[in-house]
Amino acid sequence: MKRRALIAGNWKMHTTVMDACHLAAAIAGQCADVPDRDVLLAPPFTVLSEVSHVIRESGVIVGVQNVCWEEKGAFTGEISPVMVKDAGGTAAIVGHSERRQIFHEDDSLINRRLLGSLRFGLLTILCVGETLEQREENKTFEVVEQQTRNGLAGVEASVMDKVVIAYEPVWAIGTGKTATKEQAQEVHAFIRSRIENMYEKSIADQVRILYGGSVKQDNVDALMAQPDIDGALVGGAALDAESFGRIIHFR
Ligand code: PEP
Repeated sequence: MKRRALIAGNWKMHTTVMDACHLAAAIAGQCADVPDRDVLLAPPFTVLSEVSHVIRESGVIVGVQNVCWEEKGAFTGEISPVMVKDAGGTAAIVGHSERRQIFHEDDSLINRRLLGSLRFGLLTILCVGETLEQREENKTFEVVEQQTRNGLAGVEASVMDKVVIAYEPVWAIGTGKTATKEQAQEVHAFIRSRIENMYEKSIADQVRILYGGSVKQDNVDALMAQPDIDGALVGGAALDAESFGRIIHFR
């Protein structure tokens, strides 16, 4: 089944307002000739409004790197889905491995974030992926299944069209070590089979599963040629308009 590709750039904790505007404009300028795919940028909260403004009318989707489940209240340091929308964002990433590892976010917290994000209609990317230790202990499938099931707990089939899964093996993030296309495809197919098991085949067939972990201009084509890889979540290479532009133009 053909799914619409999605290339997402996670800018992490990078960019001042000026950097962000330049980068967003340079990326938006490269999207006109690829109307068959979606491009998403996830800049820091501090530049969300500016980036939303710069990319308006380009078709680029703007989102955040994390989001709270509540609309407002005493949640120091958090940003609500309503605030995201107010600043022009329509998407959110949850469960990134840096949130899991550095900030100790667990599956249940990530599930709350996902449910909150979906409640306010944001396109939501749930990240899952094993560490090197877990892979070496042959626990990849167990970990990925658990993160997928727990992350999607309580998510109704009717909103699954707003859910994107990103498989990001932790050992491949920011390390320059990409999973081989076979390793990635194997896990993507497995995730799709788990979604079918949790929902039904038509939902598993339509859900987009992105690969993340050192995606670069020289490996994106091979990854995107795999039947269950529907896009990429890109960190480092998303900060360079030329590299990201080439990734967007995968063949
Ligand atoms: C990421 O942070 O989601 C990521 C995949 O980073 P990188 O592309 O730098 O490995």
